[in-house]
Amino acid sequence: MNFQDLGLAEPLVRALHAKGYDQPTPIQRDAIPHLLQGRDLLGIAQTGTGKTAAFVLPSIQRLSAAPKRTLPTHCRMLVLAPTRELASQIAEQARLYGKFQRLSVVTVFGGTSVNKDRQNVRPGVDILVATPGRLLDLIDQQALSLAQLEILVLDEADQMLDLGFIHALKRIVRMLPKQRQSLFFSATMPPAIRQLADQFLDQPVTVSV
Ligand code: AMP
Repeated sequence: MNFQDLGLAEPLVRALHAKGYDQPTPIQRDAIPHLLQGRDLLGIAQTGTGKTAAFVLPSIQRLSAAPKRTLPTHCRMLVLAPTRELASQIAEQARLYGKFQRLSVVTVFGGTSVNKDRQNVRPGVDILVATPGRLLDLIDQQALSLAQLEILVLDEADQMLDLGFIHALKRIVRMLPKQRQSLFFSATMPPAIRQLADQFLDQPVTVSV
């Protein structure tokens, strides 16, 4: 099983080969075909399994298959991450795989200039990678809207809860358009996480690695 067999298009397969990746990891093999079809996903997976590429690759393919003019102050895909380090790593992979498709990638997180973030999101963003607090700051300042969101990814949900982001996440879920694709990743699945997942997901495929 190689990346083409999973349904990924040529430019993405080329970018993977350029990185020296010839074989999908188990989560990539199990998740990518469903994600390309637009299904929601509950992924029970730790860092180090290749989960970032598992959600970034099919999302890029779907975004570029339906090219839209990104509206000012809107984003088409939102990836929520618990820490700035994780957000930066995700954005780096999104830039790497998205470079042939000319998708814009912006990262926003706390502890940096909010004015700079306002400027960066003003033209509209294809892929926004954010920590929950800074995302809500931008929304509250009306610098950003989630009304046109097509794909949502919530990464490391258990970390999010440990860091006290539960109320922020519940606020964010209420702002999302009903018609969207949602992906939810967590290394563990205690009841509080499962309950949160139920609020985000619609008939998800579950992949556990
Ligand atoms: P992640 O679980 O997303 O943090 O990824 C862990 C590491 O595996 C990252 O350094 C990726 O670049 C790398 N990686 C992702 N997919 C593959 C693959 N198919 N083959 C080899 N390495 C990969």
